[in-house]
Amino acid sequence: MKSAEIGARRCEPTAGANHIQAVRLARIHSAVWRRFPASFLYRHATQDTSRALDPITHGLLAATAAQALIGRRLGYRAALFGGVAGLLPDLDVLIGSPADPLLAIEYHRQFTHALAFIPVGGTISALPWLLRERNRAQWKPLVAATTVGYATHGLLDACTTYGTQLFWPFSSYRAAFNWISIIDPVFTLALLVGVVFGLRKRTVRPPAIALTFCAAYLGIGAVQEQRALDVQRRIAEMRGHEISRGAVFPTLGNQIVWRSLYRSGDTLYANRIRVPWLGEPTWSQGNAVAALRVDEPLPEAGRYPRVQLDFERFRWFSDGWIARAPKEPEVIGDVRYSLRSDAFDPVWGVRFRPGAPVPTEWVDRSANRELALAALWAEILGRR
Ligand SMILES: [Zn+2]
Repeated sequence: MKSAEIGARRCEPTAGANHIQAVRLARIHSAVWRRFPASFLYRHATQDTSRALDPITHGLLAATAAQALIGRRLGYRAALFGGVAGLLPDLDVLIGSPADPLLAIEYHRQFTHALAFIPVGGTISALPWLLRERNRAQWKPLVAATTVGYATHGLLDACTTYGTQLFWPFSSYRAAFNWISIIDPVFTLALLVGVVFGLRKRTVRPPAIALTFCAAYLGIGAVQEQRALDVQRRIAEMRGHEISRGAVFPTLGNQIVWRSLYRSGDTLYANRIRVPWLGEPTWSQGNAVAALRVDEPLPEAGRYPRVQLDFERFRWFSDGWIARAPKEPEVIGDVRYSLRSDAFDPVWGVRFRPGAPVPTEWVDRSANRELALAALWAEILGRR
């Protein structure tokens, strides 16, 4: 990655020898990567990010927390009770309607992920286990384990970019701390080691250490986010841009490469920023796209209020980070995510067909994301 050529309106990477070599290297890395078990996690995340995400990490975090906190009273069963409870909030992906494609995104990470729902969710998660008499004798620690497991889910989701309605029913605010990607092999592996060693040694120390490590890892994510934001400010300063709104988002599976988005005037600018744990940050030239005007009705809406309403719903879901896809202007994309980290190739978005019985179409390109992973792997290594 080279420093940016400041002020360019739209800057495509040069297709020189270095680029071709980077693509070749990326293909080799991608082929190797597919042989690792972690590849399964990547595939899952890349193909289904619009609904649920990474049940393995959620299950492991919930099991680790329950084992660390309640393991002394319940033994290995704490991990089991907590782990299963940690999966349940994502059952909200079952909510959907063909007549209303946006219903699914409205309800995913809503009440099942809210802080206020934790006692209810924890108790519901305990009920099947309480059918056994042996478990009923220990109902208090059992409910504690399922509640701890359930509680971890929404909190972890809030650390990602997608948006989690932690404060439902009091607020529809979508908490998104941008500290960790929807899936991160380091985070997941630490939890796996903690749970396995805890179960084998029958002690709570390994899961407690794993939890501490993961908390610190999230902290590093917060520091990395600030470092990437500093770089974003420098880029804008060098270009003479005033940032009216800016954010950086971790790219898939790492805390090194960040997608930077900022708005200046009526334009959105995207850059790829690489902040190695040690060493100087670098950034790509990036791309720009016209921001969507939200102070006037959407042109497609015309005399169809449902289209305008659905547009507002999508804008809320995307936290206002929306733009027309340059290659398909009829698609309004959630620009927080892009198939290429410094471009505007939305992973998902909406397309309106005013007058049709279902005027809103959910456009999902997440299946194409695997192609972009090869390039991302090269980005993480700093070879692009
Ligand atoms: Zn979730």
